[in-house]
Amino acid sequence: MFFNMTTKLYIEKDAVSNHKKDIEGFGKKALIVTGHNSSRINGSLSDVENTLQSIGTEYIVYNKTDENPSVENILDAREFALSFDPEYVIGIGGGSPLDASKAIALMLANPSFGKELLFDTSLNYKKALPVICVPTTCGTGSEVTPYSILTLHDKQTKSSIPHHIFPELSLGDGKYLSYAPENILINTAVDALGHFIESHINAKQTSFSCLFTEKGLSMWQTVKTILLKKEKTYDDYETLLTVSSIAGMAISHTGTSLPHGMSYSLTYNYGIPHGKAVGTFLPAYINNSDAKNKSQVLKLLAYNSCEEFSSDLEKLIGRTVIKECDYNSYMEAMMSNERKLKSCPFTADKNTVSAIYKDSLLSID
Ligand code: NAP
Ligand code: ZN
Repeated sequence: MFFNMTTKLYIEKDAVSNHKKDIEGFGKKALIVTGHNSSRINGSLSDVENTLQSIGTEYIVYNKTDENPSVENILDAREFALSFDPEYVIGIGGGSPLDASKAIALMLANPSFGKELLFDTSLNYKKALPVICVPTTCGTGSEVTPYSILTLHDKQTKSSIPHHIFPELSLGDGKYLSYAPENILINTAVDALGHFIESHINAKQTSFSCLFTEKGLSMWQTVKTILLKKEKTYDDYETLLTVSSIAGMAISHTGTSLPHGMSYSLTYNYGIPHGKAVGTFLPAYINNSDAKNKSQVLKLLAYNSCEEFSSDLEKLIGRTVIKECDYNSYMEAMMSNERKLKSCPFTADKNTVSAIYKDSLLSID
């Protein structure tokens, strides 16, 4: 068994300003990577800027990270920052800018390489610049995972890069979540739920990963209650953020499985947000797993049946409608994703994957 979690993580009120000494240790020049607008509105960017100014650190801001960032997005950010020559990268936002910051940090450390480096670990390359993450959504756990998931337009899908880049420091503060609309909180919390379920029902499950999944799955009813509350407190936001980081710790050890693999086609082709796309397949994934895992997961989630879970989840994320003509190509894409198939602990042949599609929160038009 193996356990590795190299990120120093703080989740607390004013985490960024509280840890200016930690940030100071990273150097005197920082590249900040954000999404398009939200970090300016929710205060996370100004918290980081004020802190950097107070310790005399120079910085530039790349604020063009798209949702589900593409390889082109990463190269554009490197082009933007190369002449500034930053010593480290600070990613602020949801999973998209956090994932992007890791890939940008790798490309900045290796200016002579083109995009081929992103998906090749056999080249003679330097390790990525250090990364700090400030999460503002509550689902991906990217602030504690080594993963960076990029959109590949040439393959019309998304894929995790094979480089493992853990952030060195992550600073979470529930106050940023208070600016997020309900659908972003729900979709991202369902992503975290997917991380727990897919890490628990996973060929790489270990006693260590179960420490995280058992704790996290047993918190689902609390998370659901928070998501359904009209008025949320600071503590509620902190709970959502904490659960999301625990889920990140789980998948750091196991990776994800079929629901994530199946979600990529929905996101790429229909623009369905990541968490909602993953959630679409969760009840059917549990239902098709072996009896022991199925009953363990349902018990931890506090449901009597997959149907009960499915109907609760549908109330949160609804159903997704796809065209019948897309179904076969999505099946093909899933059946060629060897990494996700391998992480499934039960036989994931064409029949099973097809059964999951048919049982999911998906309607075929
Ligand atoms: P996201 O794509 O980062 O952001 C979604 C939307 O939320 C954006 O429009 C963003 O706006 C907005 N937003 C972010 N924080 C906000 C806040 N506090 N208040 C209001 N709006 C806010 O969403 P995400 O679900 O967190 O990340 C999805 C990405 O993470 C996908 O690419 C997925 O594949 C990846 N992922 C990574 C891991 C991992 O382990 N690394 C795990 C799962 C998923 P702006 O653009 O204006 O910022
Ligand atoms: Zn996810």
